[in-house]
Amino acid sequence: MSDLLIRGGRVIDAAGERVADVLVRGGHVVEVGTGLSGDEVLDASGCVVAPGLVDLHVHLREPGMEEAETVDTGARAAALGGFTAVVAMPNTEPAQDDPAVVMAVLAAGERASCDVAPAGCITRGRAGEALAPMGELHDLGVRIFTDDGACVADAGVMRHALDYSRALPGAVVAQHAEDPGLAGSGAMHEGAWSSRLGIPGRPAAAEDIIVARDLILAELTGARVHFLHVSTAGAVEMVRAAKARGLPVTAEAAPHHFTLTDECCASFDPVFKVHPPLRAQADVDAIRAGLADGTIDAIATDHAPHPVEQKERPFEEAPPGMLGLETALALTLTELVAPGLLSLADALALLSWRPAAIAGLESHGQPVEAGSVANLCVIDPDLPWEVDPLRLASKARNTPFAGRKLTGRVRHTLLRGEPVVIDGEAQR
Ligand SMILES: [Zn+2]
Repeated sequence: MSDLLIRGGRVIDAAGERVADVLVRGGHVVEVGTGLSGDEVLDASGCVVAPGLVDLHVHLREPGMEEAETVDTGARAAALGGFTAVVAMPNTEPAQDDPAVVMAVLAAGERASCDVAPAGCITRGRAGEALAPMGELHDLGVRIFTDDGACVADAGVMRHALDYSRALPGAVVAQHAEDPGLAGSGAMHEGAWSSRLGIPGRPAAAEDIIVARDLILAELTGARVHFLHVSTAGAVEMVRAAKARGLPVTAEAAPHHFTLTDECCASFDPVFKVHPPLRAQADVDAIRAGLADGTIDAIATDHAPHPVEQKERPFEEAPPGMLGLETALALTLTELVAPGLLSLADALALLSWRPAAIAGLESHGQPVEAGSVANLCVIDPDLPWEVDPLRLASKARNTPFAGRKLTGRVRHTLLRGEPVVIDGEAQR
């Protein structure tokens, strides 16, 4: 059996940091040390070798919207972004509320460039009424349940889902926290900019009210709750207080929520339309503080591809969502690590081992040591590059970061020992 050597990198994982060669054989790390040799060598000098990144929040659009993305194209974008596993949101068409749909996504993931863990719906058709067959979906390996794209607005339904999830080992109920009545048909954050631009707003209160309610329900039921794409200062503060009280709550934040504000919408370019919306600077600052102090557990992209013709409709009519897989790591390094807000190890914790633990992905986010599955990424933290939408592997082009100069890029990605990205190029 031939082996592969990742030579001369700075290994960073949950166990610590050291300069070492990493020898991979048969899909596993077999040795970590110095002066090792292998049949095939990947250079990692000047680079960081880390457990593969894990994205808790990705829209792969298959089945149903394959003109925007497929499991195959989305996974390739993920691998190029350093991700070895992604959680596929269930707002497909049909929705992932049924074992057959989940099995189809799993089957597509078998051939993909990263592991694909389908999330399951909380309710049938994401309609917020009858519970989906959560037990049957759990039997297929589903651990994250969400109606993402839609909020479970009815407190009784949410309580029922939380109660039920307690019987499913490792299950977590993940909420898209936006009260639909308050968010209404708003197309951007409600504030000074929405007034000035005449675009209807979605108030921060729409998010805060659901977070407050679901924390009360978490306390009532004892069940795990995860908040998707937290975007308000109020939500960060409530999650911080809930954690201090010992509630089993986790939260993620998306790169666009710690890098962009509602002022971007002044261009009327729908590429800046997303739910929850880009917020005010004070919210961005609060998200950054929440990432720095551990209140927020994970950076998740909410990668949401849309066909060009749909994203080019007028702002209020265009679908919400933006790409994220190929820019998340570089934005984290450029915006959070370079200014000293996070250490590199803290950033990797948010992008790899903490989300892996939330999703119960046991072969991801593991320390780089003999015996662990070789799901790895090699990052050049100093490489400057500029985001060019035309060069993304995603089928879609709706990145809000076009033209942005970033520092740090994935050099190699290994999926179960197989190099799926070498020197920044996808291998399958
Ligand atoms: Zn969402």
